[in-house]
Amino acid sequence: MSVDESMIHDIVQKVMANMQIASPASGMHGVFQDMNEAIKASIEAQKVVRCMSLDQREKIISVIRRKTHENAEIIANMGVSETGMGNVGDKILKHKLTADKTPGTEDLHTIAWSGDRGLTLVEMGPFGVIGAITPATNPSETVICNSIGMIAGGNTVVFNPHPNAKKTTIYTINMINEASLEAGGPDNIAVTVEVPTMETSSIMMKHPAIPLLVATGGPGVVTAVLSSGKRAIGAGAGNPPALVDETADVRKAARDIVNGCTFDNNLPCIAEKEIVALDGIADELMNYLISENGCYLASREIQDKLTATVITPKGALNRKCVGRDARTLLSMVGVEAGPEIRCIVFEGPKEHPLIATELMMPILGVVRVKSFEEGVETAVWLEHGNRHSAHIHSKNVDNITTYAKAVDTAILVKNGPSYAALGFGGEGYCTFTIASRTGEGLTSAQSFTKRRRCTMSDSLCIR
Ligand code: NAD
Repeated sequence: MSVDESMIHDIVQKVMANMQIASPASGMHGVFQDMNEAIKASIEAQKVVRCMSLDQREKIISVIRRKTHENAEIIANMGVSETGMGNVGDKILKHKLTADKTPGTEDLHTIAWSGDRGLTLVEMGPFGVIGAITPATNPSETVICNSIGMIAGGNTVVFNPHPNAKKTTIYTINMINEASLEAGGPDNIAVTVEVPTMETSSIMMKHPAIPLLVATGGPGVVTAVLSSGKRAIGAGAGNPPALVDETADVRKAARDIVNGCTFDNNLPCIAEKEIVALDGIADELMNYLISENGCYLASREIQDKLTATVITPKGALNRKCVGRDARTLLSMVGVEAGPEIRCIVFEGPKEHPLIATELMMPILGVVRVKSFEEGVETAVWLEHGNRHSAHIHSKNVDNITTYAKAVDTAILVKNGPSYAALGFGGEGYCTFTIASRTGEGLTSAQSFTKRRRCTMSDSLCIR
């Protein structure tokens, strides 16, 4: 640990120890003991935000961006310290990416028709108070990204975060409110409770003042919001396969896949979770994975030990393994790996539990297939119908097209690491809420608005 890193670590430990958070009186903005009180405060803030100009919303967002940069190291340390998942370096990058590439008010567009019978506009208006549920895997990134988009859309937001990431979330929500106040906006533009539970989540989901719910997490929470009777955006689980065919630049494919898979210890839902490799290049790919990209080849015995360690007898994930780095996972099964090891690889059938399960760990099973058609079939099977993310390494446009149509996912990265889809080393904006199940795809400010038609009859057409 360098001097700077240990200083930041000390600061984070102190901040976390001193966070008796709780009531607004204790100095943390937007944090309440009671969910109903939090919602009440959000309703009051919404009255102010609704009257703000786009320019005023943008001022708040620009301070959120600046503060996210300033706090990136602290929040990244806090997230790793509290959840035990991910790594600080990549989390810093994720925060900077969120600050720089999450769209603001420029994402809101007006459609206009003008003609003999007047002028009609369709504008993107706020829903009002949005209820958002956030994951433990990208806790602060999701809160910042959702807040920017929701505020850009003219909303305020009530968060029910994952209990395992509540301190990191509370710190982030306080920062967002400080940004709002600094920019002349209201307090409580984003709120939460000091102890988030299923009960506080249920209060939020049922509250009549909340017309839109946004859930980022596994299948349980997405089903819960979709069963609420309200409009809901569901950003759920994935299990992204990376298909490599015979036309790929195999050396680059190996590098891209390992870079994507190991980013923040495989926590992003879009990250490569397994490889499907054509027989003609499978050996070469495996060779590059091991010789040039820090992959540890797991024997059958180690695979079995890993399976028994990372998956519980009931088939659930062992939370102590999610988001851990490869060396830590290996040490749990008695292997002392060197510092060059970043990822664990092995070859196996698609049904292997370490391949078929969304592990969120740097473990990459390689499934060998005889033909491209079998590769597509296998990848579609492994994606489990989530229609979330899939990746391909190929120079054959026909193959890429066939795969894209068959897998039908919200994200498809061609010839790059998965994080290129988030605008990190790729074109396009960033989000940490990818709504494949409800169809919004990569959410942004416009996802958090409703379409409103405004018609002027027989006037204002000046053509
Ligand atoms: P999780 O499902 O355990 O928790 C997510 C959130 O939902 C938490 O706040 C949790 O408290 C809450 N929750 C869980 N079940 C609930 C229920 N029945 N009712 C109400 N609230 C409930 O997920 P996690 O471990 O925090 O995150 C990992 C999962 O989330 C992975 O499956 C990953 O793919 C997915 N994820 C998806 C996206 C996306 O954009 N699609 C982004 C991040 C994570």
